[in-house]
Amino acid sequence: AQSHLFDRQEKATASNPCRVKVLLPVPFSGPLDYLLPATIGELHAGSLVKVPLSGRIVVGVVWPFKNQPEQKTLPDNKLKYVLETIDLLPFPEDLIEFVDWVSAYTLAPQGAVLKMCLSCPQALEPVPVKHHYIAGNIDDPAQRITSGREKVLNIVADGIPRTAADIAAKAAVGESVVRAMATKAMLSVVDLPVDSPFRQPDITLTGPVLSSEQEVAALAIRAAVWVQGFKPFLLDGVTGSGKTEVYFEGLAEALQVPGAQVLVLVPEIALTSQWLERFEDRFGVAPAIWHSDIGTAERRRVWRAVSSGDARVVVGARSALFLPFRQLGFIVVDEEHDPSFKQEEGVLYHARDMAVVRAKLAACPLVLASATPSIETLVNAKEGRYEALIMRERHGSAVLPEMKFIDMRAEPPEAGMWLSPILVKEIEATLAAREQVMLFLNRRGYAPLTLCRTCGHRIECPSCSAWLVEHRFKRELQCHHCGHTEEIPKACPTCKKEETLVACGPGVERLFEEVIARFPTAKVSVVTSDTMTSPTSTGQMIAQIAEGGVDIIIGTQIVTKGYHFPGLTLVGVVDADLGLRGGDLRAGERTFQQLVQVSGRAGRAEKKGRVYLQTYEPEHPVVAALLSGDSESFLELEQSIRQSHAMPPYGRLVAIILSGPDIGAVIEQGRALAATAPAEDGIAVVGPAPAPLTRVRGQYRFRMLLHSRSRDKVQGIVSEWVRRSKKIKGVRLRVDIDPYSF
Ligand code: ADP
Ligand code: ZN
Repeated sequence: AQSHLFDRQEKATASNPCRVKVLLPVPFSGPLDYLLPATIGELHAGSLVKVPLSGRIVVGVVWPFKNQPEQKTLPDNKLKYVLETIDLLPFPEDLIEFVDWVSAYTLAPQGAVLKMCLSCPQALEPVPVKHHYIAGNIDDPAQRITSGREKVLNIVADGIPRTAADIAAKAAVGESVVRAMATKAMLSVVDLPVDSPFRQPDITLTGPVLSSEQEVAALAIRAAVWVQGFKPFLLDGVTGSGKTEVYFEGLAEALQVPGAQVLVLVPEIALTSQWLERFEDRFGVAPAIWHSDIGTAERRRVWRAVSSGDARVVVGARSALFLPFRQLGFIVVDEEHDPSFKQEEGVLYHARDMAVVRAKLAACPLVLASATPSIETLVNAKEGRYEALIMRERHGSAVLPEMKFIDMRAEPPEAGMWLSPILVKEIEATLAAREQVMLFLNRRGYAPLTLCRTCGHRIECPSCSAWLVEHRFKRELQCHHCGHTEEIPKACPTCKKEETLVACGPGVERLFEEVIARFPTAKVSVVTSDTMTSPTSTGQMIAQIAEGGVDIIIGTQIVTKGYHFPGLTLVGVVDADLGLRGGDLRAGERTFQQLVQVSGRAGRAEKKGRVYLQTYEPEHPVVAALLSGDSESFLELEQSIRQSHAMPPYGRLVAIILSGPDIGAVIEQGRALAATAPAEDGIAVVGPAPAPLTRVRGQYRFRMLLHSRSRDKVQGIVSEWVRRSKKIKGVRLRVDIDPYSF
């Protein structure tokens, strides 16, 4: 199937070495030419090779000719030779196509995309080996069989090679006993790679009996596994409807296909201890896990096992999309609406959108699951590109919570407090019934602003155009954009008066203060990215909450993510209007999704849940939709507004972000771009305008926004525009296709 990839590669001879294209994980525009020495016999497109590159040795991938313009840039005698091949299976054709596709779509260099595939340098080196021991010559009459030695022989009797440490622990002897037996040939040594293989999922296990609604959805997904080809689904089910159980059925079906691998993309992987437990219960093994925080040894083990096909199930953050799957057979994007799927650094891509492309190229089914699907996905379903599977009921006896609002104009909290009297009463009643409360406030720290009462000075970050946030638990001021921290000053930096600085506005730490003052006997936990620092501590905290060890949970958006807390019956949204301020295209959609998700934590078991939204704007369409439960009309309205303005997904947006330390140069670059802006029908360019955060880490940021009224690809127009424009020194220019927040 790969022969066409080699249309110009003949067999090399010493006098006539052939050329190969090698794509390197560096931000160049395309693959480079190398010569293939006669010593390297067979080479495939996708083979991993070592090549010299300006004095370094770099691992790259042999790239097919078909995707390259026909040009010989250098004569043979100017080219370097491929040094050696790497003992790993070649990249499959669908991965090569994926790299090319992502590069063409995002306008990032192919090498920058390949770098995401080769994100584990250790995996490209031979795996270290370690001594393992098996039974050797045990009939040597010269050797005494002590009781310790006998225990060791009992352990190795099964023929499985084990390390000295492993045998010593099992036999309860010292490692020296094992080594001594090896020197006496009573044990034989075998050198095996240190990486342990992945255990295969048990496909004979079965899940729970599905409800009829779940069964209908599972049936459609299972059937798609056996129909060869791409098949996208939207699994749109209310919180607690059993979406996970349903797509587990899809995974189980896909794993019946010999060699098939499955990928589950989740937002913020560190938070999924509950998901992993459920997976293990269902499939008998732990999946391979991939995200930015796993250690090097485990990274290597996973990368290689995905490449060899040994790892059948991978659950990971967005970067897992770029792993070298041997035979990808099924993809799930869980919580597909989650904003963390958009990568905002390096290659700017949306993992949900790229997952659709990956599935298309791998010709496999894809499930986008959410209780609050994105407008993009809803429109795709409505227009028939995705098959929608809808589940409206919570599993079992659980019902959706009752939603109420508290008009903060009529029911104001006491001065310096944030909970209205009604909510306080509800919390009291819930605690008296020995049920749990969750208070949602999407603001980390103690207070978002520190202000001088005397002169009005606001404490700002020295390198960003942002206020510093007080973190009282840590006794410091923090910038949430660059990580700058400083001590809380005693006196105002401007007027030098003491005891004049005041904290303005609420953060979760301040809410904590109020809660422990009002409910002194309650056990209270603050759940934010500041307190959930490692997967282990996070897992422990979540388990403790689930077991009922906490009465009141105070949390940021982190607590909205898919957790199942059976004892939780009351959710209080402290500031329902918070996300609605600011002019972002997706502000309404995103706030709606977040509030539905946090509400969805209430009443997931037998006891009915209640949700209270504290708001100053109960008539706002988002709040009104939440209260009436009529999300459909809200989403319809959102869609029709976008359609009438040709906003995504009906039209398209592209942002060009300009940044640099010199504001004058940044503005000049903006003007240069404005001067060459495309003047085509249906295309409009606005800017340059300061980005919402104009200065970050000392860099000034301005933006140009291109709006296209049609859905047609805009990449050609944008790259031509940027190419034509004058380049100003010291200004970084990044293109963001389908920008997420602006
Ligand atoms: P969602 O992902 O839609 O929020 P989950 O898959 O987490 O829903 O299901 C919610 C709860 O109901 C989980 O504890 C799950 O194990 C349970 N559940 C869902 N469907 C079934 C079923 N058919 N049988 C037994 N338990 C189920
Ligand atoms: Zn800063």
